[in-house]
Amino acid sequence: MLNPTPHEQLEAALGERQYRLRFPDDLEKRFEADTGDQRSQMLFISGVICLLIYDSFLIADYLLRPAQFWGIAALRLGLVSGFGMLALLWVRTGPPGWQREGCLALIIVLGMATSGLIFSFSPQSIAMFDPFSFCLILLASNIVIALRFKYALLTTLACLLIMALYVVPSALMPLEAKTFALLTTLGTAVFTLFANYRLEISERNNYLLLLRERLRASLMHESNQVLTHISQTDSLTQLPNRRRFDEVYQRLWQEAAQRARHIGVLMIDIDHFKRYNDHYGHQQGDICLATVAAAIESQRRAQDLVARLGGEEFAVLLTDTDLDTAVQIAERIRSAIEVLGLEHGASGERTMVTVSIGVALTVPTPQTTPAWLMRQADEALYAAKGSGRNCVQIAATSG
Ligand code: GH3
Ligand code: MG
Ligand code: MG
Repeated sequence: MLNPTPHEQLEAALGERQYRLRFPDDLEKRFEADTGDQRSQMLFISGVICLLIYDSFLIADYLLRPAQFWGIAALRLGLVSGFGMLALLWVRTGPPGWQREGCLALIIVLGMATSGLIFSFSPQSIAMFDPFSFCLILLASNIVIALRFKYALLTTLACLLIMALYVVPSALMPLEAKTFALLTTLGTAVFTLFANYRLEISERNNYLLLLRERLRASLMHESNQVLTHISQTDSLTQLPNRRRFDEVYQRLWQEAAQRARHIGVLMIDIDHFKRYNDHYGHQQGDICLATVAAAIESQRRAQDLVARLGGEEFAVLLTDTDLDTAVQIAERIRSAIEVLGLEHGASGERTMVTVSIGVALTVPTPQTTPAWLMRQADEALYAAKGSGRNCVQIAATSG
């Protein structure tokens, strides 16, 4: 079975009921690759805010537990904030998703364990305040930092367990206060986990919609490019068509006018092509046209444009070219077709397919136009037909 395209995977993910926290593998990798860096930056900022708030509780520690203040300061500033800052700086470098989330989850659990320890230092009279501050750690983990749901769930369970291990056996609080504190923390855990889940779901859905827009835009861009190519290309010879020729011609004319440089046109016409068609059939005529087109194209310089203007007529646009070089190129093209040796039994003049070429060259002035130069090339071509065909003629005005 064919692997689904990114677009198909995306549509399938959007079509599913949108409660899943993981996309199919490829899409999940793309999600992480597209959003990982920005998430790392956001986690850094929210992590720093959380550490600042965590450390601001030193004020309460100073007021409530002056005897243990320096020990607590070492725990908050040295252990939790020290490791926390190192972890955040590392997260900011954009490690893989599971390492980023896992590392922050560990710091949060460390913060909870340290808070439990600080609680155990409390004098009996004020100990019952502490468990309520634990709720802030759950808020930080699940809403502010907003770990991915899986990590938020595990972190919350670990935090609840740590809290229970400190609070339940503690002799510092009466049973009623413990029950109240445990229920409040449990409620906070459930609420914040639920909010965390919704945050992640909506982040993922937004990502899918954004990705769909991006894929659509790039598909549209591709099909526009294909359409542009088709609209500018002659399907038989694969050369640029008249539309493309006119577009480039106008632009190059303007450039030549601005820079006072030469611009030249070669008009190329297959000799006695009607007879060729009549003799060999239209299909063979098409093959002949394509072969001649390829031969002309093979003689062009990188900066020149070869186009099929229609029927058995071609044109070459020459820029920054003096008359000698233009005539040389025309002569090279004429001879390249002659040496192809394509049989033309009905020519009447020769035995092989040949072309006649008119050359016109000018430096644009306010009195001249692109159409005028084309007429000059056409007249030169007409003169080439008149002088026995299979030859190059230069327009009288060129020089
Ligand atoms: P001259 O040497 O004076 O140019 O004579 P000619 O017969 O080449 O010129 P004319 O304009 O009388 O005939 C051009 C012919 O080119 C007529 C038409 O049948 C043929 N032709 C035009 N477009 C195509 C095409 O796409 N395929 C084929 N096979 N023939 C084409
Ligand atoms: Mg013709
Ligand atoms: Mg012809």
